[in-house]
Amino acid sequence: MSVSLFSILGSISYRHLIDDKSGVLDISNNYAILYYKGEKMRILVVEDEQELCESVAKGLRLDGYEVDTCFDGEEAWEIISVESYDLIILDLNLPKLDGMEVLKNIRAEDNETSVLILSARGGLQDKIEGLDSGANDYLCKPFHFEELEARVRSLTRRRVVQNNLVLECGELSLDTKARTATAKGEELSLTRKELAILEYLVLHREHPVSQEELISHVWDGSVDSFSNSIRVHISALRKKLRTALGYDPITNRVGQGYMIGGEA
Ligand code: CA
Repeated sequence: MSVSLFSILGSISYRHLIDDKSGVLDISNNYAILYYKGEKMRILVVEDEQELCESVAKGLRLDGYEVDTCFDGEEAWEIISVESYDLIILDLNLPKLDGMEVLKNIRAEDNETSVLILSARGGLQDKIEGLDSGANDYLCKPFHFEELEARVRSLTRRRVVQNNLVLECGELSLDTKARTATAKGEELSLTRKELAILEYLVLHREHPVSQEELISHVWDGSVDSFSNSIRVHISALRKKLRTALGYDPITNRVGQGYMIGGEA
């Protein structure tokens, strides 16, 4: 079963491990089911500057998300209590109920929805408090919409990767739960690092990925042992892919990074 989804992920096709009889496997996995149904990812934008709120919402809708908006903390908390979102973009300086209180309420209810704080409070202590209170990311105002988009992609991507989904790219296939990859149906013998690199490249299919991006996303910041040897890992991965496929699906774009799929 192949399901095309979500403009941000481009033309990757996700094959969720679906029970043919019921049509849905793994009921606990709401995200995969959402995809299976072909529904859009839902985002709530909480921001009292209405013009800003609407322009963020408009931009994200153009990216393919379903976006709701609200303008004060109390209303936000009411909506969050009854609706379910994939991501909440949360301002802190809000009328009626402060954004930090909204966040604490969310986490106190064991609600694990991703929260990105978007705030003019840019001090280190604010960020620490926000992240310690359960925010998944923190972006300060003023901000560039492109950066917000990238962070939204990153937060929603993590959700996808956590799922037991199979990513496909040409003759390559990656099982994100079993942590295995195949080329032309044959299982590849990859190290953990090689597999993580391949997964990230496939998730960004047709877009160049820089070494810095690989280091920060693939290795969650444990850079020291990795940064020097990243080229070695990529080179080993490419060699294995070339052997299995008869060609190297990864291209190196000068000044931009590594890319899989798309025009060389
Ligand atoms: Ca505000």
